[in-house]
Amino acid sequence: MPASAKKKVDNSATNAGMHHFDAEVGKLLQLVIHSLYENKDIFLRELISNASDACDKLRYEAITDNTLLKGDRELKIQIRSNPDKGTLTITDNGIGMSEEELIKNLGTIARSGTQAYLEKLGKQSKGDVNLIGQFGVGFYSAFMVADKVRVTSRRAGEEQGHVWESDGKQSYTVEKDKENHPRGTTVELFLREDEKEYADKHQITHIVKTYSDHVAFPIEYVGEDNKAEVLNRASALWMRPKSDITEEQYNEFYRHVAHAGDTPWLTLHNKAEGTVEYTNLLFVPSKRPFDLFHPDRMCRVKLYVKRVFITDEQVQVIPAYMRFLRGVIDSEDLPLNISRETLQNNAIVQKIRSAVSNRVLSELKKKAKDDPEAFKTFWENFGPVMKEGLCDQLENRDALLDVCRFQTSLSDGKLVSLEEYIARMKPDQEFIFYALGDNNEALMQSPQIEGFIKRGIEVVLLTDTVDDFWVNVLNEFKGKTLRSVSRAGVDLDKQAGIKPEIKKEKAEKDEVKAEHEKLIAFFKETLGENVQDVRISGKLEGSPVCLVVPEWAMDIRMEQFLVENNQVPKRTAKVLEINPKHAIIQSIDKQLANPSDKLKDTVLLLFAQANILEGEPITDVTGFSRRMNALLERALNG
Ligand code: ADP
Repeated sequence: MPASAKKKVDNSATNAGMHHFDAEVGKLLQLVIHSLYENKDIFLRELISNASDACDKLRYEAITDNTLLKGDRELKIQIRSNPDKGTLTITDNGIGMSEEELIKNLGTIARSGTQAYLEKLGKQSKGDVNLIGQFGVGFYSAFMVADKVRVTSRRAGEEQGHVWESDGKQSYTVEKDKENHPRGTTVELFLREDEKEYADKHQITHIVKTYSDHVAFPIEYVGEDNKAEVLNRASALWMRPKSDITEEQYNEFYRHVAHAGDTPWLTLHNKAEGTVEYTNLLFVPSKRPFDLFHPDRMCRVKLYVKRVFITDEQVQVIPAYMRFLRGVIDSEDLPLNISRETLQNNAIVQKIRSAVSNRVLSELKKKAKDDPEAFKTFWENFGPVMKEGLCDQLENRDALLDVCRFQTSLSDGKLVSLEEYIARMKPDQEFIFYALGDNNEALMQSPQIEGFIKRGIEVVLLTDTVDDFWVNVLNEFKGKTLRSVSRAGVDLDKQAGIKPEIKKEKAEKDEVKAEHEKLIAFFKETLGENVQDVRISGKLEGSPVCLVVPEWAMDIRMEQFLVENNQVPKRTAKVLEINPKHAIIQSIDKQLANPSDKLKDTVLLLFAQANILEGEPITDVTGFSRRMNALLERALNG
């Protein structure tokens, strides 16, 4: 529970039961009341959704404590209205809320990451329905149509109920329920003058049928004569045959389970019969859920056992790298009375997880092949999460890699699979080359890939944070080794199939070495311990120098991450590659006979530049700026 949720009665208020909303709720209410939603009907869907969740929760708790259902065993949702008075009430006989829960649930927002999200929302121009819809305002959407909301609730198993009431402005009150309502929750809306149509029975029926038909509990309209009419089909949607379900029903169900406002990008409805028996109705959202990268990385798929909701927390019925999935998995094999705690290491849960993830991967693979354009949207949203899976020793890692897509130095913004990359490798090319960086533009300009571009060797461009990690775990794909462009020891001409004339080859190599011996010695002497080695580069074209790591050493970006997190004590010295074809290097070479301080400064500046390009710190910043100023002065005056 966040600290804010512990807020107690505000003593400064005259009314003893008065509380102030949390700042976050205040902001959210502002956004809601000023109607970011074009379609206000959805408030009813949200309230019914909460009522249905409450019934689910009670049914689960009743497995271990049957007395909780006492007196009222048939779980249902009832709607009543009074067009004359302009009131609408939604009643459920579900789990209910204690006084403390009323304060916590309806006075604060416990969901992590909300603050940041609301700030983002606040910056959007008015009317951005998608963003707020994605957040799912839930209960607070009642204030779109009502200027007063009263919630009467009694928690299952408790004797005393409480009444929460608010005008949705700054505060709310919570008091004891003097009328002693039975178990469950009643939400009573006092409709705004211009929203009274929502008290009309036909309007209510229409909304329920449109948005809430899938709810697994009966939703009744109760007339003034106390006659009840069931408005929905009241059976679990996922148990119905696919052919009976319309796309709109799937979409509405998605919005219900995901607390989302968008339309799913992909719907996966299957019944598995075999070693494990389960039904899955899973959705891939079309938008990135706001808390996707929150550190607790929660799985949001709901686990049911034989139609009874068990939990949507902590249980990893899907792997963490698929945590963007929303929906339901209903198992036939798990025992109903299983405790949430023992689910974690349950063998059946693990089997379900493995079967479901295989199914999702094969479906994604199909999508990627059939509709690459649509797949691009998916990949932009969830690619970084999927790639987290590459860091794990997964049994189906190759299947995951089949789904992964990358931009490359030759793909011109299009997404490419590693399989396609391999198919167009040069005949003599041994490696899958990749470059790690912050963005494609910077990578394409990087000295590291100049030589690859010149020779037409394709380089995979990796710019997500997660890329720094998985490339260190994964060594090969379909027999081809992955190799960073900033790793020394690759003969690019050989990779590109460019053969030097045979008799010249050896002589030329020795010649090059001898020719540059002095140059290398000068660089080494000037840079001292700052470098591990200085070598003539085989890959630089337009740039004078670059940093590389030796074959056996840790990748530069990985080392940077570990140093920042104090997991290795310090950076190691790198290898500096120099380009003998470059004018600056040639000038240095010419002046070697008579080396001045200016020449040393040039070498030091080149080295600093190579560090900057790789995101490495410059150790001697004062020296750097002094040399830079001297150079600028000469350039301006010279
Ligand atoms: P969300 O449903 O997305 O969590 P809401 O703002 O709609 O957000 O509701 C906040 C919380 O209030 C819910 O998570 C639930 O714990 C509680 N709640 C809302 N309506 C009910 C209800 N009818 N019965 C029991 N608890 C409820």
